[in-house]
Amino acid sequence: MHELGLVFEMARVIEESLAGEDVTAVDTVVMEIGEVSSVVPHYFESCFPAARQRPLFRDAKLEMEIIPAVGRCKRCGKEFSIVPTKGYCPQCGSFDKELLSGREFNIREVRVI
Ligand SMILES: [Zn+2]
Repeated sequence: MHELGLVFEMARVIEESLAGEDVTAVDTVVMEIGEVSSVVPHYFESCFPAARQRPLFRDAKLEMEIIPAVGRCKRCGKEFSIVPTKGYCPQCGSFDKELLSGREFNIREVRVI
């Protein structure tokens, strides 16, 4: 489980981006997590309270936006959701595809007080 490390990394990046600004505290962090990224949203959420050891994050809340995994078939060009089809193209059955989205792990928004 590497989510704890990612929580601290997220907090560090946010602290750096807020350095020098007149901010009392972080109210909410909105994270974008892709469906097939290496981050398990449930674990990330359960590790998030560890960030509250830091003064800026004392009362911070977490929101997560899950980005669906979408691929484009390299054989027939169809775009499709990867998770329900287990990665196979629903049109031609090929497994050969390009991933268009779903690996995201981004800080989308930081609401501050
Ligand atoms: Zn196809």
